Amino acid sequence: MQQILVHYGELALKGKNRTYFEQKLAQNVRRLLLPKTVERQFGRMLFGFETVDDALLERMALIPGIRHFALIHTAKTEVEDIANVAEQAVVAATNGKTKGLSFGVSAQRSDKRFPLTSPELSREVGTHLRQRLGMRVNLDAPELPVHIEVCKHAAYISTRKHRGIGGLPVGSSGKGVVLLSGGIDSPVAAYTMMKRGLEVVLVHLYNSSINRDFTKIEALATQLSRYQPRIRLYMIDLEEFQRHTIAHVPAKYRMIIYKRQMIRAAAQIAEKEKAEAIVTGDSLGQVASQTLGNISAIYDVCDLPLLSPLIAFDKEEIIELGRKIGSYDISTEEYCDICSYLIAKHPETHASKAKVATYEQALPIEGLEQPARIEKFSNGEKISHI
Ligand code: ATP
Ligand code: MG
Repeated sequence: MQQILVHYGELALKGKNRTYFEQKLAQNVRRLLLPKTVERQFGRMLFGFETVDDALLERMALIPGIRHFALIHTAKTEVEDIANVAEQAVVAATNGKTKGLSFGVSAQRSDKRFPLTSPELSREVGTHLRQRLGMRVNLDAPELPVHIEVCKHAAYISTRKHRGIGGLPVGSSGKGVVLLSGGIDSPVAAYTMMKRGLEVVLVHLYNSSINRDFTKIEALATQLSRYQPRIRLYMIDLEEFQRHTIAHVPAKYRMIIYKRQMIRAAAQIAEKEKAEAIVTGDSLGQVASQTLGNISAIYDVCDLPLLSPLIAFDKEEIIELGRKIGSYDISTEEYCDICSYLIAKHPETHASKAKVATYEQALPIEGLEQPARIEKFSNGEKISHI
């Protein structure tokens, strides 16, 4: 069995809530990566796997709440055993090609009863590696760093630290409804909020006279369920509302009015799901409906906090994160969720709230036309319809 040692940084600062956060993180990793063993220790966690491959390491790096982690070799808390296990770790990491390779040992003790200080232990192990494996020391920029962490019952040795995404474990900051389009931004917005501990429920709005194939939306939900173990996706048909909007609202205002209805629909799902926020993929100035004036007129429709984590992101930054979480390639597939008559040549960029109120009088804004369809996703798979 191979073990991964996980550090979770910010969690350690959370005082009394700490146990709760730790439990959430352990539960999420258990559901997402199916480890054979889970061990919680002060400020760190150990997960055991039959084998650890690159795919597993890549997934771990994107699980919210993990600051850094490493594949470890475990030794007894005795200098000699630590030095021997460090030697095995180095041989394993280099396939035995150690001659002339530069290395640097950095030791840390969380159990101060250990008889050597950290620099003394680093020196001892360094000497051992130099003599046994013909390596040379370079503390500033070693080709192979060797980390040692001496804890109460064991010492952990690793030759490579992996950076995690950081943040908080999904579910530790409450629940929010994410407006998920087929675009590039909203899946990234969903992930960004998961990273701050929000459990997300997805809501997608469509026009049934234009589209009945939701493969792409389901693929996005599937991908997001690799970071939050269980996700629900609500599908809501706004065909009737789109039709009425086109009939009664001047082209300039159609998108603003439609977006308000999207938020109303999301708010209804939020109530049903006991969610406390609505999340969009809006980014300031990206399109006409995302000017400050229009955001103000659109967000006005609902009392829940509306969170737009990408508001200050550039498109390039959003794409970069989308690539990392595997949503980008899905997002760039073709998809249409909206009637082209809702898209004006010259859209309003500073909506008047008075005009919005007047136009909405002619529209069926109350309630949803039909009950939403719900789909469930778990750990990278679609599991059912409800
Ligand atoms: P995205 O790339 O996420 O589609 P965008 O740049 O295309 O964003 P808009 O189409 O203006 O921008 O949408 C802004 C936000 O409104 C989206 O990020 C999403 O949160 C929400 N949204 C848009 N269309 C839909 C939809 N059909 N269903 C649910 N939410 C939507
Ligand atoms: Mg879009």
